[in-house]
Amino acid sequence: MSIFTKIKSFIFPTRSVCSVCLKSFKDKDLRAHDTLALCPSDYNDFQALNHILYKSIETSVDHPERGVGIYQLQKELISQGVKSYILSSYKEVEGDIVTEMKLFCLK
Ligand SMILES: [Zn+2]
Repeated sequence: MSIFTKIKSFIFPTRSVCSVCLKSFKDKDLRAHDTLALCPSDYNDFQALNHILYKSIETSVDHPERGVGIYQLQKELISQGVKSYILSSYKEVEGDIVTEMKLFCLK
């Protein structure tokens, strides 16, 4: 690591958002699980609780609004105190890239 990078990361530590509470943390405080980033508290719940599929949708270039809806749904769950996360995967259907988004609740 160059001295410039060291100084930069000291002044502007890289931050990412926890996949469950959507709060911002320093990268070093988050734990990775597949494509998810989890803060320490949510990492423990992620390991300990059941994962229940709450909603599954498919978005594409033609229907990007569906992806917005599932993020709004997750924010509603957070406001109700329900922990959840979204897993995304990609597949090709008839030449189009389709994103499958699954919203899971932790209970
Ligand atoms: Zn969190």
